[in-house]
Amino acid sequence: MHVLVVNCGSSSIKLDVLDPHSGERLATARVERVGHPDCVLLMGDDSIPIEGADHARALAFTLPRLLEGRAVDAVGHRVVHGGARFDAPTLLEDAVVEALGALSPLAPLHNPPNLAGIVAARALLPKLPHVAVFDTAFHATMPRRARSYALPKALMEKLGIRRYGFHGTSHAWVAQQAGRYLKEDPRALRIITCHLGNGASVTAVEAGRSVETSMGMTPLEGLVMGTRSGDVDPGIILEIARKEGLDIDGLDKLLNHQSGLAGLSGVGNDLRDIEARAASGDEDCRLAIQVFAHRVRKYIGAYAAVMGGVDAIVFTAGIGENSALMRHRITQRLDFLGARLDEDRNRDARVSPASPVAEFSEHGSRVRLLVVATDEARAIAHDAALLAAGAQSVEAASMIPIAVSARHIHLTREAVETLFGAGHTLTPYKPLSQPGQFACEEKLTVVGPKGRLANVRVLGPERSECQVEISRTDEFALGVDAPVRDSGDVANSPGITLEGPAGVVTLAKGLICARRHIHMHPDDAARFGVGDRDVVEVAVDTDGRDMIFGDVLIRVSPKYKLEMHLDTDEANAAQLSGGDGGVLASTGGSVRLRRRNVGFDAE
Ligand code: ADP
Repeated sequence: MHVLVVNCGSSSIKLDVLDPHSGERLATARVERVGHPDCVLLMGDDSIPIEGADHARALAFTLPRLLEGRAVDAVGHRVVHGGARFDAPTLLEDAVVEALGALSPLAPLHNPPNLAGIVAARALLPKLPHVAVFDTAFHATMPRRARSYALPKALMEKLGIRRYGFHGTSHAWVAQQAGRYLKEDPRALRIITCHLGNGASVTAVEAGRSVETSMGMTPLEGLVMGTRSGDVDPGIILEIARKEGLDIDGLDKLLNHQSGLAGLSGVGNDLRDIEARAASGDEDCRLAIQVFAHRVRKYIGAYAAVMGGVDAIVFTAGIGENSALMRHRITQRLDFLGARLDEDRNRDARVSPASPVAEFSEHGSRVRLLVVATDEARAIAHDAALLAAGAQSVEAASMIPIAVSARHIHLTREAVETLFGAGHTLTPYKPLSQPGQFACEEKLTVVGPKGRLANVRVLGPERSECQVEISRTDEFALGVDAPVRDSGDVANSPGITLEGPAGVVTLAKGLICARRHIHMHPDDAARFGVGDRDVVEVAVDTDGRDMIFGDVLIRVSPKYKLEMHLDTDEANAAQLSGGDGGVLASTGGSVRLRRRNVGFDAE
């Protein structure tokens, strides 16, 4: 599969054709100075003028040249702001494009060129699926306390004021690469990712999710950037407006284009120039470097506190990947956190697409310091390929049948004989959707300290341990507490009494409330881009009761058939119709996987 990735900035267009799985680039083009008289296409060694071209004209000129003789299966578009609505990669249908238009006021510098690129590319390549991948999406998991500002609530609601965060595609990608390098499950890791380029931001990634990030409602908050101020006392802005008589556009220009490294150094936004001048004694350049590093350190300390600790600190993007000096300034004297810098490894750290991770902490440092090559185009291509694969629409790609599992019992050979008589074998009543499993004619009474549940169905075949799966509501009826467990995990669970026609069995353990899960064949897992024991969120679309279930366990086996299992309480909450006497009954509902967790395997 090959994906075209389109990244339209205000005055540039970056185009890549790549294999989303290997990351191999088949073709690349850059258009610079879009909208200016000296607009130019750079492709290979060629530099072709396209005088005064806007985004649409530049794409119409470039795409036929770039795609000549190349088959492309999908188009991935970078979109900076997804607002509150778009928190996952989304197929670009007409209604979505229209909704994106309404988001432009949230990111006036970024979204209009993104949208111009989408409109033009859809018109030029109408037969291909186009997918929007949002910079904000990864941060949709931030808790309310991290995304709220302390402004009047009504005003914030009216204007959509909240922290959205940006560079999400990059933060998610490098956190995932770091988890893979460390050979740890990202869900067990607390990572601070520092994306330090012309734009710069830090993110706290806990258990694979963004829990805090330095950019805010707009990409202006947080770190010192090339030309953006990052954090400033809001009082200063009021003061400048009053004393200098600056209007809104003047303030916008000042904070977005004349500040940051450029404002402090007076020599522009390129750190290479600033570092060279600082080395020859330029005080302004020295201060620019110090302020930049200090701000990043401050955020690292804050985010370690936010997560109650940190296991790895990751540096990426132009400055993070290339400036050993800046990494040194930022990470020296972090011993108190458990992060010990190795000067030689830092100086020698190099990353490339073929070797994307370099470590620069001392051997034995509890907190690992890493340089990770970001690859936003590849991450976008990966998401676009995932949505486009084998499907005409997102919905069709993501449908998972739901089965509602009523209370039921699994028995051992020994328990079957005690409860139903010596030599008794279970009688199949009807097969269940998972191959080899069946509901039995046999039913039992479950007896708890407070109450009894009659006619609870037994499921076959027999197992090596007894297990009784009930819902939270059943717990109240029985007067017991059952832990939420994966099926088969009965260690240290409470016991319960079972009454059958021939005898009684009192179990020492085995009473559980089943953890919601999705059975998947390996082919389905590959299609959804998930692996065994990943934990996902699932959005359930029902009539008037849409819900999102978190903590849904993925279980992959060649023996499984694609199906999500909920218990009756969960199904009732989402208004899905229920099971039938212990039988797993498929319902009319369907679910949509939300890819939010960097625990997902990108390969
Ligand atoms: P963007 O946010 O525009 O994608 P990049 O991630 O490409 O930015 O980062 C660009 C910045 O990286 C440059 O402005 C430059 O300051 C910095 N940079 C690149 N290489 C080096 C280097 N070898 N040493 C110091 N800084 C570098």
